[in-house]
Amino acid sequence: MDAKERIIEQRIAKRRKNALIMRTLIAVMIVLITVFVGILIYTGVTSGSFARAWEDFVHVMTGTDVPGPEADPNVPVVSPVEGADSGMTAASSAEEEITQILAEAAHLAAQYEYTEAIALLKSGPGYNTNPQLQNAVASFQAQKDACIAFPVDQIPHVFFHTLVKDTAKAFDGDANEAGYNQVMTTITEFNSIISQMYEKGYVMVSLHDMCEVREDGTVARKEIRLPEGKIPFVLSQDDVSYYHYMVGDGFAQKLIVDENGKVKNTYLEDDGSISVGNYDMVPLIDAFVEEHPDFAYHGHKGVIALTGYEGVLGYRTDEVYKTRQEDRLTAYQRAFLEANPDFDWEAEVAGAKEVAEAMKAEGWEFASHTWGHINPVAYGYDATVKDTQRWLENVASVVGDTDILIFAFGADINDWTPYTQENEFFRYLKEQGFSIYCNVDGSQKYWVQFGSDYMRQGRRNLDGYRMYYNPQMLEDLFDVEQAWDAARPTPVPEM
Ligand SMILES: [Zn+2]
Repeated sequence: MDAKERIIEQRIAKRRKNALIMRTLIAVMIVLITVFVGILIYTGVTSGSFARAWEDFVHVMTGTDVPGPEADPNVPVVSPVEGADSGMTAASSAEEEITQILAEAAHLAAQYEYTEAIALLKSGPGYNTNPQLQNAVASFQAQKDACIAFPVDQIPHVFFHTLVKDTAKAFDGDANEAGYNQVMTTITEFNSIISQMYEKGYVMVSLHDMCEVREDGTVARKEIRLPEGKIPFVLSQDDVSYYHYMVGDGFAQKLIVDENGKVKNTYLEDDGSISVGNYDMVPLIDAFVEEHPDFAYHGHKGVIALTGYEGVLGYRTDEVYKTRQEDRLTAYQRAFLEANPDFDWEAEVAGAKEVAEAMKAEGWEFASHTWGHINPVAYGYDATVKDTQRWLENVASVVGDTDILIFAFGADINDWTPYTQENEFFRYLKEQGFSIYCNVDGSQKYWVQFGSDYMRQGRRNLDGYRMYYNPQMLEDLFDVEQAWDAARPTPVPEM
């Protein structure tokens, strides 16, 4: 059961509890009114006094003598009419509750969570006699029945690097321009790509919707059911570190949680002020899904592949920023620490944790991109072990555990043939908890491999290089001409 399902379970349980409390209150009220009316009739007949009846009622109910309205006219009389009032309040609050349930169920159904939507509707007050709730159930049941299973081994996976916010700064002719032009995508391009994919019927799914990693380490295919015409795809973004070298080049500074609890970016403006907005993939997708909930299957969004050496999500969380170990500090890190004498490592880690938690609650997942952005085989086995330990100690400790490894440089630990226990890299990485592996393969629409204890998927880069040199390879996803940012210099340098 994932977090979302738990929330729905809790909502349903809460509704049931509220309904139970409401029913109990109404029953108690009916008993009270009956007792009061009984006493009223009896006392009224015997003494002709309403006040006396009230006194007797209070006496019966509390077992004490309390001043009646006759004794103190300032004490308000609680009349049985108030019982009728609460009845009316219960009726209108039940109506409000039904409206809310219908809205929540519609949102769940829009994200293809028909089972949960139906369960929620059935938990609504007076479901058995409410045609609105019943009609909604019938409609969602019909939508659910019309869904078809999409072959999980035909699911494409696309990825981006940090998006360019200010093209004038990224493409300013400095030494980094060529690299940005090749592997980065601008916000304008990204927005076009995402809305084009949405129009074509693409729906974001999680790698964990494709497979189930079981307690015993085995990995099983899962089923993804969608309405006809919808195409599931996986979205990822690499290196959301906001590396030191990118400062001043037109990229966001970091991710933050704003005062409304939403994940946003900060951006350093020319005048030194800091603005908050949707300046990179995470908040852009969050905003898009708010408008188009049916773009996120079960509310699941993308996976963020993190390195560790300069921290995560724009926070300088790596241990070197704390230990300041001379032989490990890079020139960038030394300059950063010098420029920020008030740097507080604990606060930095707390900030990153807050963002990671908020992202996970919004449907994002995290993956290892290796700590040092390494190619394991080229780096060697022992170095890979050391690198993996650093990732677990410096990154997993901040963003939480993950079973996904998204290789850097599009590397892999094997050719296309299945991973086996003979492969020491796979044996070790699997032991460290990694069961889902992604490389880069832009040559095919999709590439998915299932082993008994892993799933592997190829990813397609949607960047300047691919758009410029192979636009036809992207036709199933979007039209490059429409997405192309005129601010991007051409030709995109060859690799
Ligand atoms: Zn990378």
